[in-house]
Amino acid sequence: MNLSAELVNFAYIISAALFILGLKMLGHPDSARRGNLYSAVGMALAIIVTLLADSIVSFEVIALATLGGTVVGALAARLVAMTSMPEMVALFNGSGGAASLLVGWAALYDEILGTSAPSTFILITIILSILIGGVTASGSLIAYGKLSERMTTAAIVFAGQRIVNSLILVGIVGSSVMFCLEPTLGSQWFWVLLALSLVLGVMAVIPIGGADMPVVISLLNSYSGLAACAAGFAIGNNLLIVAGSLVGASGIILTNIMCKAMNRSLANVLFSGFGAAKAATKVEGEVKPIVADDAFLILEAAQSVTFVPGYGMAVAQAQHVVRELGELLEKNGAEVNFAIHPVAGRMPGHMNVLLAEANVSYEQLVEMDDINPRLPNTDVVVVIGANDVVNPAAREDENSPIYGMPIINVDHARTVFVLKRSMGSGFSGVDNPLFFKENTRMLFGDAKQSISALVAEFKS
Ligand code: NDP
Repeated sequence: MNLSAELVNFAYIISAALFILGLKMLGHPDSARRGNLYSAVGMALAIIVTLLADSIVSFEVIALATLGGTVVGALAARLVAMTSMPEMVALFNGSGGAASLLVGWAALYDEILGTSAPSTFILITIILSILIGGVTASGSLIAYGKLSERMTTAAIVFAGQRIVNSLILVGIVGSSVMFCLEPTLGSQWFWVLLALSLVLGVMAVIPIGGADMPVVISLLNSYSGLAACAAGFAIGNNLLIVAGSLVGASGIILTNIMCKAMNRSLANVLFSGFGAAKAATKVEGEVKPIVADDAFLILEAAQSVTFVPGYGMAVAQAQHVVRELGELLEKNGAEVNFAIHPVAGRMPGHMNVLLAEANVSYEQLVEMDDINPRLPNTDVVVVIGANDVVNPAAREDENSPIYGMPIINVDHARTVFVLKRSMGSGFSGVDNPLFFKENTRMLFGDAKQSISALVAEFKS
């Protein structure tokens, strides 16, 4: 079939509207599922129309690639643990970047082998899709390596790093100009540009470490959108331009939200080499452990209980028993809510997703800024596998690498139970003085087992 350009563009406008509507609906938990569906319908429409348009070279290859992609995607969605989601997102971003790079590269063949000489504008869009796509692909692989701890999670910094990066940038600009001046398929400048783009991705991500990695994932997500947008210009596909812009913009908005939640600027995240320079004041004191039986007695008498979930709740998959304990506490007459820190866990909304999965009502979720003033009047706060997001060093220790990060002030409550397995630190690697506070009791063990023990006490 040979669809007219008008029909294709009309279908693309409908797809773009569905993407935007879908994104808007993702902003609220009630409409998020429908939002996902709307976007998926928009994408299906875009794919069908593109396949029916006239420039398809081989349906067999596309069918094979679709099959391969579907199998990998379905397996990944089924098999990857919730705690490994950020690594998977890193790989997905990398694939998006690599795809844009390849589209730009393929467009180059089209342009150079075409009847007329490629315009400078098209050449620039091709160069941008290769540059941004390359940076996204290699940067995302490094981010994957760091998040999955296949390589050191610490910031890798060395003397002269900025000079090396500047030289790489100069090399990229130089090779791009040389390539534009003489765009041939065998051009050595093209290979220099490609290689330097990949190296730049690696160099951009290695100095970022510790708790900053999820921000970088979001930023790379934004880059993958920009790369797709450039590829859209390169091949003259309007929908790719729109979709790429949407991903680019939403990625940068998310990055900004995360930076704000950590009270850091993006420049600080990208260039400070988190934790590499500062050494927090050593925390010392007496730790007061508690067993589930005693914790139960305090909880039984509590009028108000706030749960503060963190990454450890995801590891322990404790969300269902936490909901059960919440219900038992409510039956016992306590007011129960869940305090959500914007960067608890390993991705934005991580805790919301887990608690929603366990059918905790949205009304019970309270954001950090709203819960903090209420904590001094809260009888018991139960910290479930959270660490950095409740670390008072962010407030009290100017030498701490996380100083200035807004936290949930759990230490202001009357009693704090901290559920974790050891005295180990959180993602940022920073010690936590909360564990030594007068009103803190450590309930050591796997969070699911500890909460289950409390549930059993309430039931018996
Ligand atoms: P943390 O990584 O600070 O701490 C998690 C704690 O969970 C650990 O101290 C660990 O202690 C405990 N834990 C692990 N497994 C279990 C288990 N099975 N049972 C009980 N406890 C367990 O998590 P937070 O959620 O407090 O903080 C998130 C971090 O990620 C912050 O540093 C934040 O800045 C960073 N980040 C997150 C982003 C996001 O989008 N969510 C974005 C940017 C950064 P132990 O080993 O002793 O059990």
